[in-house]
Amino acid sequence: LTERLQNAIGKLRKKGKVTESDVREMMREVRLALLEADVNFTVVKDFVKQVRERAVGAEVLESLTPAQQIVKIVNDELTKTMGEAAVPLNKAPHIPTIIMMVGLQGAGKTTTAGKLANYLIKNEKARPLLIAADVYRPAAVDQLKTIGQQLNVPVFDMGTDHDPVEIVKQGMIQADLQKNDYVIIDTAGRLQIDEKLMTELADIEAEVQPNEILLTVDAMTGQAATEVAKGFNERLNITGVVLTKLDGDTRGGAALSIRAVTGKPIKFTGQGEKLDQLDVFYPDRMANRILGMGDMMSLIEKAQNDFDEKQAAAMAEKIKENSFDFNDFLDQMDQIQKMGPLDEIMKMIPGVANNPAMKNMNISPKEMDHIKAIVYSMTPAEREEPKILNASRKRRLAAGSGRPIQEVNRMIKQFDMSSKMMQQMSKGNMSGMEGLFGN
Ligand code: GDP
Ligand code: MG
Repeated sequence: LTERLQNAIGKLRKKGKVTESDVREMMREVRLALLEADVNFTVVKDFVKQVRERAVGAEVLESLTPAQQIVKIVNDELTKTMGEAAVPLNKAPHIPTIIMMVGLQGAGKTTTAGKLANYLIKNEKARPLLIAADVYRPAAVDQLKTIGQQLNVPVFDMGTDHDPVEIVKQGMIQADLQKNDYVIIDTAGRLQIDEKLMTELADIEAEVQPNEILLTVDAMTGQAATEVAKGFNERLNITGVVLTKLDGDTRGGAALSIRAVTGKPIKFTGQGEKLDQLDVFYPDRMANRILGMGDMMSLIEKAQNDFDEKQAAAMAEKIKENSFDFNDFLDQMDQIQKMGPLDEIMKMIPGVANNPAMKNMNISPKEMDHIKAIVYSMTPAEREEPKILNASRKRRLAAGSGRPIQEVNRMIKQFDMSSKMMQQMSKGNMSGMEGLFGN
């Protein structure tokens, strides 16, 4: 999805002004991109219609930055299709809040039940109880028990010889006795939706009236995920969707279709097999990701935790004045190191995420230390006035830092390049960036 959209956007950017026929061509690309990503056909039709109507409006055709305007419209509409804002979990007025997991076999119900328990403990210091109500495979009960042990969360089970409704009933009694504030029910799935499964799930629903029935669907199945969601939604009072295996889905089709087709919000996404790999679903961030702009919000959030705003403003001022020197460079490296693994951060920067050059751009903490050693070997004058670094000074730096002269040269060259790039970016010109990453 991303690549095609980016190409279309790139084409538009080259134009100063756009005409209605440019918009039409762009919409054709958007449409193809969505269909290729396995987005439901009706959703595609509605989406393209919305975007086209807004894009041929006067505000775009007469604006000075039409490409940017259109990107914004596409972004807005993507967000709207996925539901505007994050939707929190429903809560019961009195404990326990009951969450029932449903979905096809292999979708990720059991794993997500564990992830939710972990999420609730981390965020609300909750005391959840897990109930093992998948009685068709002994392995299913064991799987949930193992997860419970990992998280130190109690698991209620009665083996595989009882009726699931009975198990859930008994489990609820235990939750009342132990005063658990959440009950998470893991249920059975099938390879396909069938009558017996739906009846069983409807019976459990009728028995405990869950506050939340979370449909777990596998994002990697694309359009099929949407069909499954439709089927479950017709038989049960689904309250939300968990889109699992998003880590393996590069197309984003299911995320786009599900809300539109079922009217039910995606509440969480699964990002891996580990029990902490569950994220709250933010439609606007997903839209950004789909557009290949990188997850700027996540980046900013991450940065805000560690980054001093005043310092950032001072830095921006310096960059503008072209007085960015090695002292600032050191400060900046410290900030970056505080923020966490560099490659993870770089991936969130627009235009960088999909850039093949990024594959060679992993700067390890060790390399960072080497760079620092070189800067530390500079005199104050050299740090403030990098231009004076001639060959003999560079040789001295190599000796002082214990790094090879080639490394010193390379580092200074990179510093020059990045300060040039930052200058250009501060003037609102992104092409400096492309130069750096070898586009
Ligand atoms: P269930 O049959 O619906 O209970 O599905 P399980 O919870 O047993 O999950 C099936 C498989 O998918 C397991 O191997 C899980 O580790 C894996 N899985 C679940 N969620 C995710 C996810 O978000 N990302 C990845 N990569 N794997 C997942
Ligand atoms: Mg299971």
